[in-house]
Amino acid sequence: MATGSKLTGGAFLFEETNTADLFIPEEFTEEQLMISNSVKEFMLKEVHGLGIEKVASLDAEKDKALVMEIFKKASDLGFCGVSVDEQYGGMGLDFNTSLLFTENLSLGFSFATTIGCQTSIGSLPIVWYGTEEQKTKYLPGIASGEKGCSYCLTEPGSGSDANSAKSRAVLNAEGTHYILNGQKMWITNGGFAEVFTVFAKIENDEKLSAFIVEKNFGGISLGKEEKKMGIKASSTVQVFFNNVPIPKENLLGERGKGFNMALNILNSGRIKIAAGGMGGMKYGLERVIQYTTERIQFGKPIAEFGAMKLKVGTIASTAFAIESGVYRVGAEVDKKHAELLKAGSGGNDAKINSMREYAIECAILKVIGSEAVCNTADEAIQMFGGMGYSQETGVEMAYRDARITKIYEGTNEINRMLSLAEFYKRAFATKELKISKAGKTVPLAILQNFNPFKSGSLAREFMFVNNLKSLFLIITGAAGAKLKEKLVDQQEIVMNLADILAMAFMAESALLRVKKLSENPTTDKAALAIKTKMAQVYLYDALDTARKAANNAIDSFSGGLTKWLLKRLVRTLLGTYSINPMNLRREVADHIADKKGYYF
Ligand SMILES: Cc1cc2nc3c(=O)[nH]c(=O)nc-3n(C[C@H](O)[C@H](O)[C@H](O)COP(=O)(O)OP(=O)(O)OC[C@H]3O[C@@H](n4cnc5c(N)ncnc54)[C@H](O)[C@@H]3O)c2cc1C
Repeated sequence: MATGSKLTGGAFLFEETNTADLFIPEEFTEEQLMISNSVKEFMLKEVHGLGIEKVASLDAEKDKALVMEIFKKASDLGFCGVSVDEQYGGMGLDFNTSLLFTENLSLGFSFATTIGCQTSIGSLPIVWYGTEEQKTKYLPGIASGEKGCSYCLTEPGSGSDANSAKSRAVLNAEGTHYILNGQKMWITNGGFAEVFTVFAKIENDEKLSAFIVEKNFGGISLGKEEKKMGIKASSTVQVFFNNVPIPKENLLGERGKGFNMALNILNSGRIKIAAGGMGGMKYGLERVIQYTTERIQFGKPIAEFGAMKLKVGTIASTAFAIESGVYRVGAEVDKKHAELLKAGSGGNDAKINSMREYAIECAILKVIGSEAVCNTADEAIQMFGGMGYSQETGVEMAYRDARITKIYEGTNEINRMLSLAEFYKRAFATKELKISKAGKTVPLAILQNFNPFKSGSLAREFMFVNNLKSLFLIITGAAGAKLKEKLVDQQEIVMNLADILAMAFMAESALLRVKKLSENPTTDKAALAIKTKMAQVYLYDALDTARKAANNAIDSFSGGLTKWLLKRLVRTLLGTYSINPMNLRREVADHIADKKGYYF
């Protein structure tokens, strides 16, 4: 059960995580696993049961009746209410269980987006920011699935720059209604939603506000279903607001606070993209193993070729790291929530602030999770060869479906910048992160960690994780000292720094999980051995990524002696981790093949 949170957002950079305070996926309870299994069974029966060819051709417009039928069946099982408190008719799942739900939702292909939107960006604005009256009025219908819901932020002229939205709401002369005019674009579930959370500016405000808008208020019209590259069964439309009268009491949250609300809702959506992506990667492994163990070339199953094992070993290790990071953060959100409630925070504030706390980690996970699932789909096509390129196997559909994850809920460029901006904010503006500690600990850590031959259980691996953290702080500090406020304009460097930061968090999450498992005498030793190898493979790749990013950053902003010193530091801190990546990936791949998927 959730107790006090031990790790504040971004603090992983400075503070050691005690494994006693760490949640690992092996600790999910029977009840949590039952919920996740019910989603899995549902998707296998209702979506996979249609046959892969039918699923691949599902279209939000042509097949609306079928999509709505599946939506109704999912609603009947309570799936639309996972994020809604029980008193309003929902399941009231804690956040980490909702992530587990999302992981398995991914088995529903593009239908997952429909439920994902309903349970995340569609309903959370009211769950987190609604008044008692608003919740009582809207949440029961949303939880039962009777009312589809959607989140309307993006406009034709404002995507990443969401705050520049042009939609406007003006209070009428009687002071009873806001009259809304504007246009929203790319609205998921928009084709059938009854309730829209709309972000618009009130009168001449510079900042956005949010409103709960019912379709039957009048003045709302919809564009045609977008013809998209993927997630074709998911409804995506433009929504036009023409003098829509919104009762004054439907202002959601405080006037002018809409942008903050929008961003915080996206924090939750971002980590859910990682959870869903990781679910997709696990499913992909299952399909790949099935195919490559049956496909014979040169007289043997192609699964036996090293080139295939390289891919399987890498995908599994990356999924392991993402799984470790997602549920580590999910549990921290729940712990923070419990802690805030205990400290007397109101229900909404506790939900809002527990999520906001982990904005850095959510942005990291979104970027890593989305890029990993896209890479997995690409490699899956490769392993299927020509059959991967054919519609018949459904793998090309996965490739097209996965691609959106790098774009929505904030593009990956925006999320990389965000992880850095949040770090700077917490370190220098709000001072929530004790960066002053780093001044003392970083040089010490470097001295202590100088020995690349360090031995003992994972001691060497944790040394390299600490080196990643130190290197991030040193290069960020050096870039900041050289470029000052101009650093934000040198986005290439910001991207590099974000990648080092991400690698430190992800590799640490995987290794901490293995450490915790190894401390438990009841842990299955064979499974632990493979998990350790996956964490080591991930670290090996993470060091490569970080090394490249660090050298790019250093070459971009420094010169002379500083450059020489920094590059030497990169070599010293990251350059000497040595495992046999071929053997380790092979052992991981063999395990995945034996178990016919990512099973332990
Ligand atoms: C299928 C689908 C479903 C969606 N669902 C929803 C939804 O339900 N609700 C909703 O409100 N929105 C939704 N969106 C919108 C989505 O969130 C936006 O598409 C996304 O935020 C990017 O905005 P944009 O498309 O305007 O791209 P742009 O903002 O124009 O970005 C284009 C490129 O420029 C880059 N870029 C932009 N600004 C900067 C900068 N400052 N620095 C560096 N690079 C930059 C971006 O990273 C990107 O690579 C959906 C989109 C799609 C495609």
